[in-house]
Amino acid sequence: MKPLEIETFLCRSDNFGVLLHDPVSGETASIDAPEEQPIIEAAKRRGWTLTHIFTTHHHHDHVDANLALKEKFGCTILGPHGEAVAIPGLDKTVMDGDEFEFAGRTIKVIETPGHTAGHVCYYIPSDGLLFAADTLFAMGCGRLFERPAADMWHSFQKLMALPDETKVYFGHEYTVSNARFAVTVDLENPALKTRAAEVSALRDAGKFTIPTTIGLEKQTNPYMRVGDAAIRQHLGMIDASDEDVFAEIRTRKDNF
Ligand code: ZN
Ligand code: FE
Repeated sequence: MKPLEIETFLCRSDNFGVLLHDPVSGETASIDAPEEQPIIEAAKRRGWTLTHIFTTHHHHDHVDANLALKEKFGCTILGPHGEAVAIPGLDKTVMDGDEFEFAGRTIKVIETPGHTAGHVCYYIPSDGLLFAADTLFAMGCGRLFERPAADMWHSFQKLMALPDETKVYFGHEYTVSNARFAVTVDLENPALKTRAAEVSALRDAGKFTIPTTIGLEKQTNPYMRVGDAAIRQHLGMIDASDEDVFAEIRTRKDNF
C-alpha cells in the first residue's frame, strides 16, 4: 500500500477542490465537485483520471460539477442518503457508520448533521485522513442552515473522538476570518494567537491553510474548546452546558 496522494486547489471563490489519488490502482476521487474546470485542470496536471466523487452535502457549491464530471470521466458518485434527491448524478448512497472500499482501503462514513441535515464526512483510518467539508473548518464550524447547534455539537464530538494526528481537509478557505473571530472568544490562548499569525502569513504568501489536524483544532478551535474555563468566564457561562456554550459561540460568529 503506497500513501494516497492529495491535490488541493481553489474552486469558485473560496471552495477547496481536493483530489485523492492512489498511485497503485490509479483510482482518483474528488471530494465534492464545486467547479468543473479547476477540477479537470488539477487532474490533468497530475495525470489522474477521476473515478469517484465523494459528495458531502447537497449545497450547489459542492455538487455543481457532478454531471459534467460524470459525463467526462464516467466516475461513480457517492453521497449522503438523506440528501439523495438533491445530489445530481448520484450512483450510491451512504449513511452513518457505512464502510466502503476505495483504493484497497476502507472509508468510513461519519454523519455530521448541522450545516445541512444529511452532511457526511469521509474518514480513512488507515491513512489518518478526514474530509470534513462544511462541518469543521480550521478554527471554525459550518453555518447552521438545517439543524440546531446541539446537533452540530454532537457532530463535532464525533470528529473530536478521532486520533489527534488525523489530517483534516475542509471545504472552504475561511481560515483567516475564523481566526479573527476565534481570538474574540478565546482571548488568552497562546496556541490560538500563534496560529492566527501563522495562517495570516500563509495567506499573505498566497498559500492555503489546508489541511489541519484534529489535535490542532482541539487546541485552537473555539467550538471544540467549549469546556475551557477562560472561554466560559469570558462568555459569562461558567455553569452552562457544553452545547449551550457551543450555540453561543456559533451565534456570536453569525453576528461578528
Ligand atoms: Zn455548504
Ligand atoms: Fe460550501
